[in-house]
Amino acid sequence: MEQKKQNPKAEDETQVVSRRIQRISLHITPIPRPLHDHDSNLGLLPCARREKLEVETEKLSVYMRGKYRDIQEKIYEYFNARPELQTPVEILKDEHRELCWRQMYGLIREAGIRPLKYVVEEPAKYFAIVEAVGAVDISLGIKLGVQYSLWGGSVINLGTKKHKDKYFEKIDSLEYPGCFAMTELHHGSNVQGIQTVATFDPITDEFTINTPNDGAIKWWIGNAAVHGKFASVFAKLMLPTHDAKGVSDMGVHAFIVPLRDLKSHQALPGIEIHDCGHKVGLNGVDNGALRFTSVRIPRDNLLNRFGDVSRDGKYTSSLPTINKRFAATLGELVGGRVGLAYSSVGVLKIANTIAIRYSLLRQQFGPPKQPEISILDYQSQQHKLMPMLASTYAFHFATVYLVEIYSQMKMTHNEQLVGDVHALSAGIKAYVTSYTAKSLSVCREACGGHGYAAVNRFGTLRNDHDIFQTFEGDNTVLLQQVAADLLKQYKEKFQGGTLAVTWNYLRESMNTYLSQPNPVTSRWEGAEHLQDPKFQLDAFRVSSYHWLLLKNHRHKHSNLLYFLTSVIFLLTVPDI
Ligand SMILES: Cc1cc2nc3c(=O)[nH]c(=O)nc-3n(C[C@H](O)[C@H](O)[C@H](O)COP(=O)(O)OP(=O)(O)OC[C@H]3O[C@@H](n4cnc5c(N)ncnc54)[C@H](O)[C@@H]3O)c2cc1C
Repeated sequence: MEQKKQNPKAEDETQVVSRRIQRISLHITPIPRPLHDHDSNLGLLPCARREKLEVETEKLSVYMRGKYRDIQEKIYEYFNARPELQTPVEILKDEHRELCWRQMYGLIREAGIRPLKYVVEEPAKYFAIVEAVGAVDISLGIKLGVQYSLWGGSVINLGTKKHKDKYFEKIDSLEYPGCFAMTELHHGSNVQGIQTVATFDPITDEFTINTPNDGAIKWWIGNAAVHGKFASVFAKLMLPTHDAKGVSDMGVHAFIVPLRDLKSHQALPGIEIHDCGHKVGLNGVDNGALRFTSVRIPRDNLLNRFGDVSRDGKYTSSLPTINKRFAATLGELVGGRVGLAYSSVGVLKIANTIAIRYSLLRQQFGPPKQPEISILDYQSQQHKLMPMLASTYAFHFATVYLVEIYSQMKMTHNEQLVGDVHALSAGIKAYVTSYTAKSLSVCREACGGHGYAAVNRFGTLRNDHDIFQTFEGDNTVLLQQVAADLLKQYKEKFQGGTLAVTWNYLRESMNTYLSQPNPVTSRWEGAEHLQDPKFQLDAFRVSSYHWLLLKNHRHKHSNLLYFLTSVIFLLTVPDI
C-alpha cells in the first residue's frame, strides 16, 4: 500500500491488470448481468433471456438493400414458389449442372429478369440480382456471372456497335449461352503469357485460331463442358509481315468463337471440348477445356474496341503500346471482380445469420438450479460472432461504395476513377473473400455438431465460396497490385522540388496531429471515444501513415515487400 502511494502509476497498472483478469474470467463463468451496465464498456450483454432488443427489421432491410430490394424479393418469391427448382442437399454433378441451367433459364424466360441491360446501364442492380441468386445456390450465381458479366460483358465492353447489335438480345435471352475463355493450362494469373494464337488471313478475311501446344489448352472455362455455344477467346493477335519472321505479335485480344452448332449442339470442326470434371465445390457450373485446331472465324469477330485490323491487314489502335491495350482490356473486365467481392459479402451475410440465430436458440450450461443459458450469452461466442457481424456491415457498405464508384467509372470513363476502381476492387476483393472463407469455418464451429449437418449449409457455402479467393484474380497477386499502387502514390507525394516535398510531408503530418493529438498512445477507453468514427478514422490514418513511413525509411531496398506488409496491416486494422 505504502509502495502504491509512492507510485500512483503502479496503482493504475494493478487496476488495469485486475480488470483484465475479471473480464477474462467471464469467459469461464458467465454471470448474466443487467443489460445497461453503466460502469463497463465491454461487459456482457445477455442476449436470449433478458430484455429483447427491438430492431425495426423492415426499416433496416429497406436501408440496407435500398431500391434493389424489390428485384431481390421477386427472385426469392420465384424460387420459393418452385420447390422443383431448389437445389437438394444431395445431388450428383450432372444433375446439379442441369438443375442450374433450368434455374437460370426459368429466371430469364419465366420470371422475366433480363440482366445484361443492367450489366451495362445499372451495375448496382445487376450485382443485387447476382447476390440474390447466389443465396439460392452459389453455383447459380456463378453460372449467371459467366453468362452475363464474363461472356456478355466481354462482348459488350470489348466489342463495338456491330457486336452489340448482333449479340446483345441473344445473350440476354439465353439463346446464345457462352463462355469466357482466358485461362490456359499453363497460364492463369499471368494473362499476358497465354499462348493461343489468332492469325489474320488477308486472303479469306478471317482469323485462324490455334492452340499451339497442350499448355495452351483453355482450362477451367465455365459453361464450356455442357451448355456454351460461343466463347470470347483471349489470344495473341498475329499479323502477317513481309520480313523473315513472317508474323507480328500485336498482343492479347478477344475474339468471338462459335463452339457448338446452334441446332444440333455438336462441337464445330476444329473445336475439341473436354470436361474439367467433379470439383471441390460449384458443381452446378460445367467447367471445361477447349482446344482449337485451325478454327476459322470472320474478321468481324475480333472484339475491336481497343484495336482493329482492316480488310488489307493493317492494325489500328488509339492506344500506342501492347501494354496500354492490355491494361485497357483488363480494365474493362474489372466488373467481374467488383461483383465477386459483392457476392462474397452476400455469402458472409448468410453464414452470419445462420450462426447467430442458432446461437441465440441453442442453450448449454447455466447457473445451478436455473435454466440453461443461450450460447450467445458466452463472451467467447460473442467474440467469435459479433466482430464478424460488425465486419459484415462494414463490408456491405464498402462494397456498395465500390459498386457506386465502379458505376461512375462506367459512365464517365474518368482516368482517375479507372485507377481507383482497379486498386480498390483488387484490395477489397482480396480482403473480403479471404475473410469470408475463414469466417465460414468459424460459423460452422460456432454451431457445434449441428453446423456439420449438410442441411445447415456450411459445407456447400464453404466449398462453393473457397474458389472466390482465386478466380477473378488470385488474392496474393491482387494484394501485390494494391501494394504497387500504394507505392506509386507514395512516390508521387515525394515528387517535385525540395520545398514542395517538405511542404507535403509537413501538411500530412500536421493534419493527423492537429485533428487528434496522439490518439493511439493516449489510450482513452471510454465508449464514446472508442466508438467515435472520427477517432477511428484518425487512428487508422496515423497507424497507416507511420507504417508506410517507417517501413520505407528502414528498408529502402525492399520497398515492395514492406508496402505489401503495410497493406496487409491496413486491411487488418478493423480486426484489432
Ligand atoms: C471453378 C473455377 C472456375 C473458373 N472459371 C474460369 C472461366 O470461366 N474463365 C477463365 O478464363 N478462367 C476461369 N478460371 C481460372 C481462374 O481464373 C484461374 O484459376 C486463376 O486466374 C488463377 O490462375 P491459376 O489457377 O493458373 O493459378 P496460378 O496463377 O498458377 O497461381 C498458383 C499460386 O501461385 C501464386 N502466384 C502466382 N503468381 C504469383 C506471383 N507473381 N507472386 C506470388 N505468388 C504468385 C498464387 O498466389 C497461387 O497461390 C476458373 C477457375 C476455377 C477453379
